[in-house]
Amino acid sequence: METLVPVLGDQLSLNLPSLAAADRERSVVLMAEVMREASYVGHHKQKIAFIFSAMRHFAIALRKAGWRVDYITLENPDNTGSLAGEVQRAAARHGCGRVLATKPGEWRVLEDMSGWGALTGCETVLLEDTRFLCPLDEFAAWAEGRKQLRMEYFYREMRRKTGLLMEGDEPAGGRWNFDAENRKPAEGSLFLPRPFRAVPDAVTKEVLALVAQRFAQNFGRLEGFAYGVTAQDAQAALEWFLREALPCFGDYQDAMLKGEAWLYHSVLSPYLNTGLLDPLEVCRRVEDEWRAGRVPLNSAEGYIRQIIGWREYVRGLYWLKMPGYTDENALAAHRPLPAFYWTGETDMLCLREAITQTRDTAYAHHIQRLMVTGNFAMLAGINPREVHEWYLAVYIDAFEWVEAPNTIGMSQFADGGLLGSKPYAAGGNYINRMSDYCGSCRYDVKQRTGRDACPLNALYWDFLVRNGEKLRGNPRLAQVFRTYGKMAEEAKRDLHRQASAFLKAL
Ligand SMILES: Cc1cc2nc3c(=O)[nH]c(=O)nc-3n(C[C@H](O)[C@H](O)[C@H](O)COP(=O)(O)OP(=O)(O)OC[C@H]3O[C@@H](n4cnc5c(N)ncnc54)[C@H](O)[C@@H]3O)c2cc1C
Ligand code: SF4
Repeated sequence: METLVPVLGDQLSLNLPSLAAADRERSVVLMAEVMREASYVGHHKQKIAFIFSAMRHFAIALRKAGWRVDYITLENPDNTGSLAGEVQRAAARHGCGRVLATKPGEWRVLEDMSGWGALTGCETVLLEDTRFLCPLDEFAAWAEGRKQLRMEYFYREMRRKTGLLMEGDEPAGGRWNFDAENRKPAEGSLFLPRPFRAVPDAVTKEVLALVAQRFAQNFGRLEGFAYGVTAQDAQAALEWFLREALPCFGDYQDAMLKGEAWLYHSVLSPYLNTGLLDPLEVCRRVEDEWRAGRVPLNSAEGYIRQIIGWREYVRGLYWLKMPGYTDENALAAHRPLPAFYWTGETDMLCLREAITQTRDTAYAHHIQRLMVTGNFAMLAGINPREVHEWYLAVYIDAFEWVEAPNTIGMSQFADGGLLGSKPYAAGGNYINRMSDYCGSCRYDVKQRTGRDACPLNALYWDFLVRNGEKLRGNPRLAQVFRTYGKMAEEAKRDLHRQASAFLKAL
């Protein structure tokens, strides 16, 4: 009896549990480009191109490794447009009695998979995805009974479990976290390495033409597409990062510069999230660089924390809280997403930079996502569901398990403080400290009110006051509320008037 092994667009690893468990001689791998997956949000053109091209290349790699692969392109005239439809057709076509799959990264797809047994009449086996360091039941056990979930404590467990940057039972360098050293602003005179770029081959060119034709109305530019699409490309991107950018990653992790999209970031998230790179292997290579004396500890620790800490933590939280997490709206924010999130047409230079760069590359680094587009949306009271759908659409690395907790929890505080202990809210001063944007902006970052005042300044205070009932009791905000309390009544009224006028015009 044949076994059907469906492989999804973010499961492009030769050591995928379902592939490891299947008998190569008696199995058919199914890969399908389906319209429902390509359109459940209006994905950036480069995101669709990246995933389709990486899938096509993975099918080639599987065939080379001796697998029989049934690959359904988007253009296939019989393509039903859904994963379930393609699994049903393929099971019948190959006379399969069993479907063997690895559980997906998204709740929506897991619900779909749960119906495959009834649909195909096949025994259906869904295996845990072992490409993460923390199994979901282990995360649930860790979270059980804790009043508050905090990444930092989870991260220490992961350090102990993996042995990464450990000296016996103690953290290397005597501290778990070197974040305090990772907040240097960048200067325009810094040498900035250009990130890894892959040259599109014939397969990628064909996909680019398909996307240009079928997704012409989607957000984003396709020109300049240079993402890698194979495990070899992803490996080359890792080597580039270790050599060129990792040494300065820590120091400038939070910095932003006009016209510079990447600074010292790794741009490895698309490869990690689709399975082209293995997270533990990446962390081991980073640790090796530190042990060999080629990178400082604050860079190595800062980077490893993002992967074994944040990346694993947000995944655990997503599966703990789904379904329902993506509809959370603790601060009752209902304003629609401003149109400039799609066009970049705004006088606020920090937002214009982040959005136009996102349009051109499908990438923005963490601080741009958190403290520019995310911060503005939260201060302006934008509906978190709309913000979530925007992030899910526009970034090359956006899959709901990682995007939703970052957006709903970390950036919008819409989960009421489950993921983070306080809202990441900031006025213009923060952006001015961490970037060179404000010097070229039409607004004056030093002013709070008046025609030329940086809009973020009044919005910041207005946000705190508007949500005072929910935020005032937060000990981490006590000082800010005290500062507000000391302001003259007239100044408070001016700030409120300024914010209201801006929001009305938005
Ligand atoms: C509102 C918002 C939405 C986000 N959406 C996504 C998303 O859809 N997909 C995604 O992979 N990341 C997301 N992030 C996290 C982070 O911004 C990206 O992982 C990072 O910018 C990717 O670029 P990089 O590979 O150059 O990262 P680097 O700065 O080089 O970091 C290294 C790696 O650490 C991991 N990482 C870093 N921060 C996080 C984090 N907060 N959560 C999970 N993993 C992290 C990523 O795998 C990343 O590749 C989001 C953050 C925010 C604030
Ligand atoms: S002045 Fe305000 S709006 Fe302009 S770049 Fe600075 S923070 Fe952004």
